[in-house]
Amino acid sequence: MAMRRTIFEPEHEIFRDGARRFFQAEIAPHAERWRKQGMVDREAYLKAGEQGYLLLWADEKYGGAGVADFRYEQVLIEENIRHGEPCFYLNLHSRLVGPYFGQLGNDEQKARFLPAFVQGAKILAVAITESGAGSDVASMKTRAEDKGDHWLLNGSKTYISNGQLADVVVVAARTVPDQRYGIGLFIVERGMEGFERGRHLQKIGLHAQDTSELFFKDVKVPKTNVLGDPAKGFHYLTHFLAEERLIGSVQYTTGAQLAWDLTLDWVKERRMFGKPLGAFQNTRFKLAELRAQIDAAQVFVDTLVTEHLQGKLSADLAAEAKLLTSELEFRTADECLQLFGGAGYMEEYRISRCFTDARVSRIYAGASEVMKEIISRGFGLDDRKLT
Ligand SMILES: Cc1cc2nc3c(=O)[nH]c(=O)nc-3n(C[C@H](O)[C@H](O)[C@H](O)COP(=O)(O)OP(=O)(O)OC[C@H]3O[C@@H](n4cnc5c(N)ncnc54)[C@H](O)[C@@H]3O)c2cc1C
Repeated sequence: MAMRRTIFEPEHEIFRDGARRFFQAEIAPHAERWRKQGMVDREAYLKAGEQGYLLLWADEKYGGAGVADFRYEQVLIEENIRHGEPCFYLNLHSRLVGPYFGQLGNDEQKARFLPAFVQGAKILAVAITESGAGSDVASMKTRAEDKGDHWLLNGSKTYISNGQLADVVVVAARTVPDQRYGIGLFIVERGMEGFERGRHLQKIGLHAQDTSELFFKDVKVPKTNVLGDPAKGFHYLTHFLAEERLIGSVQYTTGAQLAWDLTLDWVKERRMFGKPLGAFQNTRFKLAELRAQIDAAQVFVDTLVTEHLQGKLSADLAAEAKLLTSELEFRTADECLQLFGGAGYMEEYRISRCFTDARVSRIYAGASEVMKEIISRGFGLDDRKLT
């Protein structure tokens, strides 16, 4: 039960049907095993690649479909969350990291890397965060020194999604020591000497997603593995953030909708005091409040997708959507879990995972507080202006 959405054309719905069948048949049956092993199988990427679901935007000469329409990506994210496994980060691979190659890579780099990414033969990650530099990205310590024919990379990263699985990692490192924003983006490949993976970190949720530390000790990165201008990495990172936050918003709104749907089914079945739980006014009112909020959030997200299709997505609106939807996803999961009682605390009920998985949405891709800073930038309330 949700309001009718108007942004999709019939061809998106046909695509959705195929994607749903794929996630149900090829992804969902493995999810429990993946949660136990702490990561998805590499084959998941290969299978998605076979279907043409990876890097949809990539040019046909690299094996892609050349589809720029973001709505197809939106459909894949929604169907994966509902019918596949949220820890299968195909959107991180395709849409958060892949574009660094598509938009910043030169022809040689695109020809060298994109075909394997499209096939799912090589898996991607992006490494920006360090133990002392998360929200404050520009304070990163990992550094790359220009040694003439190569860059020498030293430092460490943490909380890196796909950290164990990744074959190719886009690593942000300081290239200009005395400039806060003097950062470059480097392509580090599996097997490069001095590139080591650290602990596979144990998390409270997202159990099938491998999140890791990465270490770089005197890694010689060839000059041909620099993305764009080695002093403009910070600018590039911020350029990609608006879309990253929109992708997150699609994900979080779907997570909220999923929790709501699971709960509607549950309250119809669960009986107490001689009647279904759903017949209590408290249950109906809780679900009604959340229904109204999820519908409003979905309209907002779909509107921003339309703006994005027209090349007009702004950083502050993307931040608003990220703030609103990540907070809503967690609130919905929490309130819905409450209606499951003790069952909601048991891992065998999916609502428990909606709750634990949702907790991080308010932290990564920019914490809620950082979103509030971005949104309020244009208010004229900056202390430098007020004092
Ligand atoms: C599961 C998971 C996966 C991740 N995947 C990746 C990945 O693939 N690649 C990658 O590079 N990073 C990744 N991250 C890192 C993530 O982006 C950071 O955790 C996030 O940016 C926050 O940084 P931090 O953890 O250092 O928190 P801190 O920066 O220490 O912030 C702690 C808290 O301080 C508050 N705060 C922060 N800034 C402000 C402010 N300006 N005003 C007021 N309060 C503030 C907020 O409450 C925030 O939650 C991942 C993290 C997790 C948990």
